[in-house]
Amino acid sequence: MEKRYDPKDSSLIFVNRKDEITGDDTPDVLRVEMSCGHAVDPNSLTAWCRSLIDQGHFIFHCPAAKEGTEEKCNKQWHYVEVRRHALLTEEEQQYFESKIATIAAAQYCEYKWCPGCGSCVERKDLTNLCVFCIICMKEKGKSYQFCWQCMKEWKGSAPRSDRCDNVGCTNIQLEALQNCSTKTLPFSKIQQCPIIRACPTCGVLIEHKAMCKFVICTRCHVEFCFACLQTKNICSKSSSYNQVCAVAPRQRRVPVWSRVSDSKPSNSLNSTNTDESSWCTIS
Ligand SMILES: [Zn+2]
Ligand SMILES: [Zn+2]
Ligand SMILES: [Zn+2]
Ligand SMILES: [Zn+2]
Ligand SMILES: [Zn+2]
Repeated sequence: MEKRYDPKDSSLIFVNRKDEITGDDTPDVLRVEMSCGHAVDPNSLTAWCRSLIDQGHFIFHCPAAKEGTEEKCNKQWHYVEVRRHALLTEEEQQYFESKIATIAAAQYCEYKWCPGCGSCVERKDLTNLCVFCIICMKEKGKSYQFCWQCMKEWKGSAPRSDRCDNVGCTNIQLEALQNCSTKTLPFSKIQQCPIIRACPTCGVLIEHKAMCKFVICTRCHVEFCFACLQTKNICSKSSSYNQVCAVAPRQRRVPVWSRVSDSKPSNSLNSTNTDESSWCTIS
């Protein structure tokens, strides 16, 4: 079904120009101007952005040619802008958002410099702070494990997700979650909401700056409610952006991002932290 803009929608900038994605210049079609200045219609924008995510990209950019050149505009569009200007249906939103989240998860890597040898080590198991360094093993011939949190040689038993036995090894993220101040969220007027939350999907810490209770995570790109900590899909079933929902208590643990999709068998249960094949390192 063809999507059409509502001419009364005052949040959009309507223009009388050809579609700069497809080149279509059928008269009397309502088109809008994107943040980069190029004109689109909801159908061409949906099709273009859908083709991007189907090719594994989750950052949207403008494919229009710059005025009078062969060069592409390439300016980035935020997903929220695409969602509004493409008039994404409920179904399309769910498709886009789950695709974006899956692609972001697959591309995410955590790297740190090994304190033993200085080479770059990737942490595969985000639930375990104890990290084994292959380079140390190869170069010094002895097993070396360090703590992802305090960045010292590992002390105590492993695996652990909270801390190691080194003095002073604490999770500063948990402290921020426990001790941050509270605020009243705009629009919904929800009171006493902590200004820092860990993203319920990937665990990255996010500070609430402005706008409503719904926040899109910068790392996993899943949109969630800052008050009740449900995903937007769930929270918005019972309350919209300007309505109250229950404020979840301060988080006592930082969620760990599960990068293995539910449909695939997980091998994290039978891999040990000294299994070389489960670590990839770049030196
Ligand atoms: Zn553009
Ligand atoms: Zn090392
Ligand atoms: Zn530690
Ligand atoms: Zn996240
Ligand atoms: Zn909520």
